[in-house]
Amino acid sequence: MDEWIDIECPYCGQHFEITVDTTTAHQQFVSDCDVCCRPFTVNAECANGEVVRFDVLAN
Ligand SMILES: [Zn+2]
Repeated sequence: MDEWIDIECPYCGQHFEITVDTTTAHQQFVSDCDVCCRPFTVNAECANGEVVRFDVLAN
């Protein structure tokens, strides 16, 4: 199941939404900012089909 989370770009501060696959309990993936196109790492923890915690890190 995919869940939308609202994240903030660590470079330009832009808020936007990305999807997280909540079937994986602990995951890390790289995404690109929609605005400044720079890559950042998202760490997400999921439980019971929901995202319970996430961090966004500058690469
Ligand atoms: Zn950005």
